[in-house]
Order: sequence, then C-alpha cells, then structure tokens
Amino acid sequence: MAAVIELSDVNKLYGKGEAEVRALDGVSITIERGDFVAIIGASGSGKSTMMNIIGCLDAPTSGNYLLDGIHTAELDEYQQAQIRNRKIGFVFQNFNLISRTKAVENVAMPLAYAGVRRQERHTRALAMLDAVGLSSRADHKPSQLSGGQQQRVAIARALVTNPVLLLADEPTGALDSRSSSEILDLFDRLHGTGRTIVMITHEADVAERAGRVVRMQDGRIVSDDRQQPFGGHALVAAQ
Ligand code: ADP
Ligand code: MG
Repeated sequence: MAAVIELSDVNKLYGKGEAEVRALDGVSITIERGDFVAIIGASGSGKSTMMNIIGCLDAPTSGNYLLDGIHTAELDEYQQAQIRNRKIGFVFQNFNLISRTKAVENVAMPLAYAGVRRQERHTRALAMLDAVGLSSRADHKPSQLSGGQQQRVAIARALVTNPVLLLADEPTGALDSRSSSEILDLFDRLHGTGRTIVMITHEADVAERAGRVVRMQDGRIVSDDRQQPFGGHALVAAQ
C-alpha cells in the first residue's frame, strides 16, 4: 500500500532576488498509514509552509509530493481541491466551526459537498460525534460548548468523510492545559484505531504525545525520532 505522504527533495521559495526566502530546503519525508507525527520547530522554521504543501493548499517550487500515491504536481487547481476534500481532514487552532449551526450540522457539512444524501449525512455525523464523545451535544451550537468540545466537533467534522490523513495545525494552541490533554487523548485513541495524524505544534509537551517527532530548522528536517508515546515511558524502560 502507498505511503500516505511522500515528499522528495521538496523546495519552496518565496520572493525573488534579494528578498528570496527558502522556506523549505530539500525536505524529504515518508509518512506511513497509521503514523502519528508531530512537526515541531521555532517560528519561521517552515512548519506552516510544510503544512500548506502536505495539505495541497500550496505547491512546491521543486521536488515531488505524492499524497496517497497520487502525484500532486500533475493536478490542476480544481483536481487539487478535490483531492484535498477527499483525502485530508483539517483541524485548525481556532476550530473554524460555523457559529450559528448545530454541532451535528457542522460535522455533516463535508458530506454535503461530497454529495451524500441528507438522512445518511445526519446518521454519519451523529456516529462521528459519538466517536469523539459528544453525542449528547449534537444539537448545541459552538457558543454553547467549551473550547475542548468545539475542537472535538471540529475533529469529528474532519473525520466524517473518512480521509486518509488528519492534518492538524496547532490543534491545542487555543486551549487550556486540561482541554489540550483531552484533545491529545482523543488523538491517541484515533491513532489506536489506525488513523494517520500529522500535527504541527510549537509546544514540546504536545509533540511528546506523538509516536514520531520531526523537527524543522531553517526549512530543513534536522531530526526525525520515533518515541514511546508520553516520552517518559521510554526513560523508565531504559533504567
Ligand atoms: P513557521 O510556520 O515554522 O513559523 P513558515 O513556514 O511560516 O514558518 O515560514 C518559513 C519562512 O518562510 C519564514 O522565513 C517566513 O518568513 C517565510 N515565509 C512564509 N510565508 C511567506 C510568504 N508568503 N512570503 C514570503 N515569505 C514567507
Ligand atoms: Mg507557522
């Protein structure tokens, strides 16, 4: 089976001449089905650029990107948008829910774009809310939910189309530590059921919850470590 993500010698340049910035500098990485990867690095290291490319929101200046075996460079903008909708579930720092709309309808929305019938949309959205532990909040609007609950609704929405990749940009960035930990527990559970998760974060303790940590610096990958989830366990085992 194809890797979910395969970047080969990807470069991304912004600007021209004196103002040229090499935001990604020869990045190669393979992410397999079922991986839970954190991408970390200081501000300006290239995390967002990497996320935009992985998410088919932007194209590399050079190099190759295969998403689930598909050569993304050969797609036009319309096809890219289609691949994005079909293959990737996005989770953002600020949830990006539609505020006047019930949780269940927020979750069902991507299915409407995918042409799924109303009744099935509703059923699948409810099942997904149940999977994130929020079936009792289906009829609540975002403003009636805590930050952690809103992020769980957003995760349900990201997963309702059953994408090959969950791509999260600072998913705990707007949450207090208790809600953050709730979201990371949910990622653990999803990872346990075989989901592929890529999470951008600048917080070391958040990254520690992933099975693999990729560190960026000046547009390059400077380390790529597999670890025991929770970090501390590996230390204990080594003693
Ligand atoms: P991070 O998300 O890790 O903070 P970014 O990927 O946003 O890093 O940025 C990497 C580098 O590329 C930085 O030097 C940034 O200033 C530059 N950069 C990002 N986006 C643009 C852009 N649209 N135009 C010019 N430079 C950019
Ligand atoms: Mg960024």
